Amino acid sequence: MSSVGLETPPGTDGTLIDIVPGQIKWLRMPLPMALNHINLYLVRDGAGWRMIDTGIDTAETRGLWEKILPALDGPVTGIVCTHHHSDHCGLSGWLTERLRVPLYMSRGEYFAMRMFSEQFSFDAWEYREFFTRAGLSEDRFEQLVAMFASFRTQTRVARAFQRLRDGETLSIGEHRWEIRGGEGHSPEHASLYCREFGILLSGDQLLARISPNVGVLPFEPNANPLAEWFASLERIGRLPADTLVLPAHELPFRSPEKRARELTQHHLATLDRLQSYCAQSPDSVVGLSYKLFPDRRSPMDDILAISETLAHLAYLLAQGRVTKHRLEDGSDQYRNAG
Ligand SMILES: [Zn+2]
Ligand SMILES: [Zn+2]
Repeated sequence: MSSVGLETPPGTDGTLIDIVPGQIKWLRMPLPMALNHINLYLVRDGAGWRMIDTGIDTAETRGLWEKILPALDGPVTGIVCTHHHSDHCGLSGWLTERLRVPLYMSRGEYFAMRMFSEQFSFDAWEYREFFTRAGLSEDRFEQLVAMFASFRTQTRVARAFQRLRDGETLSIGEHRWEIRGGEGHSPEHASLYCREFGILLSGDQLLARISPNVGVLPFEPNANPLAEWFASLERIGRLPADTLVLPAHELPFRSPEKRARELTQHHLATLDRLQSYCAQSPDSVVGLSYKLFPDRRSPMDDILAISETLAHLAYLLAQGRVTKHRLEDGSDQYRNAG
């Protein structure tokens, strides 16, 4: 297989690049954020194409699909979404309605998608309490509520789904794709691996340079997603070293084991730093989050920093390396116990 062109990504203008000629195509859609694109793939399915992830729901991305779909040499036969984040499944409702094809998704991700898109609001006592515990001020909390409200408009959900389950296989055309489950970045992320092609469609589970967000969110305040993330990385790192990884962001790469190890080491180093910050001076989640992530420009950056800091603190707490103390203002202070 030629890898020519894989260092030069397609533009976010509907251009298609052949990864495996006639079998797997790569395209990009724009995202209105610092991470300004998502990679989507089309996999040959008989006379048509199976779509892998959809892009976020905007007028621009709908317009791109309006241009791409009629130019394909066959119909879209179904839509696979790796997980529930709106850049990955935001158009699943619009596309399944328009094309009348099934959506394939894990159960955990399908229901997470519905939760975020329907009656979901952060303006509730449990969530207020979560951010008070984290040490966030009231006005900053209001900013986060407004930001999460805007998420609802970014996802229009499909009304039904066909389940992807870890360990099972999904046949697409003549090829079999093994479903590789992952946790930590999202509840039941599905990556797809095809032995014949030696290709992993990794979604957000493995990205070449970015470390995907691993965070604790208010609807599960005592979660320990980093432990799940480590276990998922260990599993996906067992794939053959020459596997071509086709990720949802940035460029394709090889050697999933190497990248999984780098990501694990990145978090282990973050855990050590965080523990040393607690040793220097006990602090709240928000206070510690500024030490780990000083460069922040938006409420979205805030929520990512707070949730990621909390995920690392939860891991340290479970290991007995820090302790947590409730202060009079209702916030939690973390202290080194190591
Ligand atoms: Zn994601
Ligand atoms: Zn993503």
